[in-house]
Amino acid sequence: MTAAAALPQPGCADAPVLRERGQREVFCGLTGIVWLHRKIQDAFFLVVGSRTCAHLLQSAAGVMIFAEPRFATAIIDERDLAGLADCNAELDRVVTRLLERRPDIRMLFLVGSCPSEVIKLDLSRAAQRLSQRFLPQVRVLNYSGSGIETTFTQGEDACLASLVPEMPAEPGAARSLLVVGALAEVVEDQFLRLFAALGVGPVRFLPSRRATELPPVGPGTRFLLAQPFLGDTARALEARGATRIAAPFPLGVEGTTAWLTAAAEVWGTAPVRIAEATGSAAARATAALARIRQRLDGRSIFFFPDSQLEIPLARFLSRELGMRLTEVGTPYLHRQHLAEELALLPETATLSEGQHVDRQLDRCRALRPDLTVCGLGLANPLEAEGLTTKWSIELVFTPIQGYDQAADLAELFARPLLRHAKLTV
Ligand code: SF4
Repeated sequence: MTAAAALPQPGCADAPVLRERGQREVFCGLTGIVWLHRKIQDAFFLVVGSRTCAHLLQSAAGVMIFAEPRFATAIIDERDLAGLADCNAELDRVVTRLLERRPDIRMLFLVGSCPSEVIKLDLSRAAQRLSQRFLPQVRVLNYSGSGIETTFTQGEDACLASLVPEMPAEPGAARSLLVVGALAEVVEDQFLRLFAALGVGPVRFLPSRRATELPPVGPGTRFLLAQPFLGDTARALEARGATRIAAPFPLGVEGTTAWLTAAAEVWGTAPVRIAEATGSAAARATAALARIRQRLDGRSIFFFPDSQLEIPLARFLSRELGMRLTEVGTPYLHRQHLAEELALLPETATLSEGQHVDRQLDRCRALRPDLTVCGLGLANPLEAEGLTTKWSIELVFTPIQGYDQAADLAELFARPLLRHAKLTV
């Protein structure tokens, strides 16, 4: 029995999806560097891009007050094809200077961007060339954070997918659990305790805290996605023999219990032990949510497509907090990875995939939801029109997974409504 099979399935697994293609208002994949550089502590992210990319990183990360941040931008100015040899030489010079100055770096990511002069550069060849030169001290990898046809959480997917070929092979067919997706360390520690109580292990995380300690992978590896935007990483792990454990995502009490239970069932843990291991944390979280539910129950919510977290969030907000879903937009709908989530969504929600920002704004204005979840670029104009908004980017910067974070997650949605009520008074 899978975790999802244990739950009621009223949902919209087969509901029609409104497919939108048009102008999009989202950040690009470079944004992922803001949380990834804190997570992988001996890595450095060198964006190969334009001044726009440098500005985006600077403003997304805020003013970096510590002296040696773990990301930077190598500015590539406009060149014709004949200037590409210079570009490569310049990149090599920048990397050499950086690694001489920063002997603590063990892994260097060259992060591609979308200006045309960068697209002409072959960054995977550059990464191979530089790896040959700097190994064994430093491994150089590359991935793209380009804003063309991507959304900002895909930067993490591309980064993790680039790590998969570097993971050592798991010796033998020993079974292990790999939790995939960047999580706050406090959340990792909570999950480790819960998995130990469930008899699930050994448990490892991707990304690991140190790039030099990547977890092993092989046919014995079972992996749980902690984030819904990791399609490429999941594919790369499956190509290495690992098997995904299907589950909803660990947001809210219900999602966390189902996610943990899915792994426990693979390990053959008895239901009574699962109930014992999760019971008190789940009860505490449920009690904390009850207090916030009073402020959210019956309020309507509209999601613009942005983080790819929209569907698990909508499930949590409707089922555990009583919010009324209007439109739930997502940049991409990965039906396989979201099957357990879709089964739990109320049938009344309108699902949309992709973006046509003008049409979506019209629908949002017509619905006048109590709360609109959107990117930074849309929030101010919508607030000016009297709508209450929540920035979706905050949801990837804040620890929101697991039992102990469920009330914090609910509070993120309750707070803008409280602010609006105070301003209205
Ligand atoms: Fe802008 Fe593209 Fe650079 Fe992102 S990668 S900041 S979208 S130019």
